[in-house]
Amino acid sequence: MMRQYELVERVRTYDPDADEALLNRAYVYAMKAHSHQKRASGDPYFSHPLEVAAILADLKLDDATIATALLHDTIEDTEATRDEINDLFGGEIGALVDGLTKIKKLDLVTKKAEQAENFRKLLIAISSDIRVLLVKLADRLHNMRTLQYVKPGKRKRIAQETMDIYAPLAARMGMHGLREELEDLSFRWLNPNGYKAVVDRLTALREQNKGLIDEIQDALRTKLEEYGIQAEVASREKKPHSIWSKMERKQISLEQLSDIYGFRVLTDDEDDCYRVLGVVHTTWRAVPGRFKDYVSNPKQNDYQSIHTTIVGPRHQRVELQIRTDRMHQVAEYGVAAHALYKDQVNGNGSGARNGSPSQESNAYQWLRRLVDILLEGDNPEEFLEHTKLELFHDQVFCFTPKGRLIALPRGATPVDFAYAVHTDVGNSCVGSKINGRHMPLVTELRNGDEVEVICSEAQTPPAAWERIAVTGKARSAIRRATREAVRQQYGKLGREILTRSFKRAGHDYKDDALEDALHRLPHSTVEDALAAVGRGELPSNDVLHAVFPDVGPMEVPKRQRIKRNEEGWFGLTKAIGLKFRWPGSSSRSREVAANGIPIRGLRGDLPVRFASDGGAVPGDRIVGILTPGEGITIYPIHAEALKDYDEQPERWIDVTWDIDEDNIDRFPAQISVTAINEPGSLAQIAQIIGESGGNIDNIKMTKHAADFTEMLIDLEVWDLKHLNEIISGLRSKSVVNTVSRVHG
Ligand code: MN
Repeated sequence: MMRQYELVERVRTYDPDADEALLNRAYVYAMKAHSHQKRASGDPYFSHPLEVAAILADLKLDDATIATALLHDTIEDTEATRDEINDLFGGEIGALVDGLTKIKKLDLVTKKAEQAENFRKLLIAISSDIRVLLVKLADRLHNMRTLQYVKPGKRKRIAQETMDIYAPLAARMGMHGLREELEDLSFRWLNPNGYKAVVDRLTALREQNKGLIDEIQDALRTKLEEYGIQAEVASREKKPHSIWSKMERKQISLEQLSDIYGFRVLTDDEDDCYRVLGVVHTTWRAVPGRFKDYVSNPKQNDYQSIHTTIVGPRHQRVELQIRTDRMHQVAEYGVAAHALYKDQVNGNGSGARNGSPSQESNAYQWLRRLVDILLEGDNPEEFLEHTKLELFHDQVFCFTPKGRLIALPRGATPVDFAYAVHTDVGNSCVGSKINGRHMPLVTELRNGDEVEVICSEAQTPPAAWERIAVTGKARSAIRRATREAVRQQYGKLGREILTRSFKRAGHDYKDDALEDALHRLPHSTVEDALAAVGRGELPSNDVLHAVFPDVGPMEVPKRQRIKRNEEGWFGLTKAIGLKFRWPGSSSRSREVAANGIPIRGLRGDLPVRFASDGGAVPGDRIVGILTPGEGITIYPIHAEALKDYDEQPERWIDVTWDIDEDNIDRFPAQISVTAINEPGSLAQIAQIIGESGGNIDNIKMTKHAADFTEMLIDLEVWDLKHLNEIISGLRSKSVVNTVSRVHG
């Protein structure tokens, strides 16, 4: 096990400014926290965080990252708490360790292979600091290196997860060395036979080519020395998993692979790359079509290198990569190398490897700047540009309680979540719990949220949800469900209208009878016909006539009135004598209103009712409030209840009365009366109302003092004029103290 001073020394070789005390504190704290724990291998648990720290020290990462590596399992696996870590190591390291704890918790969630891409995105998205991902990858690498000690079943699962999630993540971060090792370690457990076959043949091939490789390397070195070029020549062997997947991909045998061995020439600067290329091409013949210059044209992921294939000393093909040290670091270590070399890139472009200590510590400052940019969150694009790492800032990733991962666009709400799970779940959703707490459905979901949708059977999504949903799927499903609900309401209303008008004609209405008569009506189903009656498009008399062709045309009032149904909903807007003017529409809509179909589209299909208490009477200035999914509720303009809608002007609908002289409907109104307590005072009040032609619906005593009584009287009146007559009549009586109208 690496000793405390060894670790500190290693970090200080590349970062002389590293906080020695911090590293020592983290070492001791983690060692004590894990003191009695053992790994599957039997080693003390502390050997694991220590190895992870060593991997990151090899990547030359900053002291905070190394300390985080030492502490990364403490919150989850020991008594340590986030607060304690904060107190001892500061908020920065506290946040880093917390990020790793969060990822570790995600590991407990079952992950299906097809969700691997989403899961990778989730990892990146919740790791607001790139160093969290670096520690996580090092953590996984060490766990993979020691996988042989884990039980076989679990071993395979971890290997699969590494192949599906962590190796591609390393690739995305440009850390190809790490990716290759993760892939190889996974391959070994996922396909032991394939792994062994490749390794065996590689061993044989290596033996066979031993002299050749050295020969080529020597030839290259000699030539470069001749031309006075300082460069490092190395050979590399393709990794078993890369070989295997290329064999699979191209359907070829191992012997047919031409790039198992490759050679790499590392130079100090860019000019030397081209000089090396010149030497190589004048010495050996280049294979046509194999030359690529990624130095002047870097790949999207910042990869830079010159690729060429030559015919070597023994007439065999030799693949060559020529690049600078810095380009090599980027190719191997990706994001981590960027952190190290950023300053040199922007600086004088001199050899990076010999960069002065202060330049290197500037690199860590650059890394911290990136982190700041990310934490402040005001310019995530800038971060992306610097790291070429997609952060998926336009997406959030949430879980169902059973661990299913749901990817949603940013701004998504539990309503979107519910519809993403299943349309039926969305349609029956009535509430939500986020991370175990009841939260409003308008809550914006955040990465890693666990969302539980609360469902109720008899629920139709209110159309207003269309506005709190951001996904197209949720919105169109809500529209469909709303339309269907409105249709059903009209169907219900239509059936009631028919039942009543059939009764008037001495018949019972039955759906079966309507079904049999459909061929005489312009509708193909009973539901369509009922909805048409409810909407007022199909006169009930037509239906009666279709069902009983022998019944002569009935006497119908000049204007067919529709009474309130059980729930207080009216049918046709025309039937209750209202004209509608839609916000933003011109006076032309009045003409539309005169046709009895005041509005087009979905809104026009909505049922209308009066506010349940203190409703309006003709003559009152009125306003309609649109309740999506329900309909329009009419309030007098001075109704207290309207205050609730002040913030939602889009729900206000301009309506006016359209009442004829021969109006036969009464409208509810409420008055408050204070009367002196004397025998017969109540009778006098009732008498005045009766004489004025008003109906008393209900009287409620609200205050009963020794000398006076206050009461609320529910009336039915023709209109405002009628109501005012009643009020004046009451005021004229000596027993009456005050009279006022009550608005709901
Ligand atoms: Mn760990």
